[in-house]
Amino acid sequence: MAAIQLTERQKEIILIVKENGPITGENVAQHLNLSRAALRADLTILVMAGLIDAKPRVGYFYVGDNSRTIISEKVMEMKVKDCKSRPIVEREEASVYDTIVKMFISDVGTLFIVSQGGILQGVVSRKDLLKVTLGQGDLQSMPVNVIMTRMPNIITTTLDESIYEATKKIIEHQIDGLPVVRPCEAEGPNFGLPEVIGRFTKTNITRIFLELLEGD
Ligand code: ADP
Repeated sequence: MAAIQLTERQKEIILIVKENGPITGENVAQHLNLSRAALRADLTILVMAGLIDAKPRVGYFYVGDNSRTIISEKVMEMKVKDCKSRPIVEREEASVYDTIVKMFISDVGTLFIVSQGGILQGVVSRKDLLKVTLGQGDLQSMPVNVIMTRMPNIITTTLDESIYEATKKIIEHQIDGLPVVRPCEAEGPNFGLPEVIGRFTKTNITRIFLELLEGD
């Protein structure tokens, strides 16, 4: 089943069907003080989602009580702020050499490159750094902002974005993670610019996956 976000009415329908099923569409409508026609779309969605089923001349009954549904409902409610990690950043003036050292020390695969005040300027991944080491440049003197993927091409997330949306971005853009940003609140030139406040990566997603399997 594809994960879907249920509306309040759809949740109510599920409860009614769960408690009263098998129940006709007409009777579900009566419970909600609505017409049968007004419910048709919701009932169709819930049947297609595999949460309820319908038998001719019997009515609707509940089938959604399986772990797959519970897991997808749980994930749909989770936000980036529930599971992000702290950001690992490097200043844009840092050398490529220092950036490589920082990556090793901090044990991450992606570093966010920031200007003064923690404002997001770019991202460097392992492969960006490997690529530059194959070239002729002097890693000690070359600043990392020469090789980084830079704004405005950085895909970001926010504290209130759903895990579902953030995960889709990671898959669609084929990247390992996203900087979590918020508009800088400090008065001055940085005001409103994206300040890095966390990271959301494949590791966070793997952890969520494990927790769900373990039933936490
Ligand atoms: P790796 O290079 O180790 O495979 P990624 O798949 O994350 O790691 O990175 C692939 C490319 O995408 C790199 O050039 C990297 O700079 C860039 N990149 C990584 N994260 C982002 C992001 N959030 N937004 C835009 N580009 C990114």
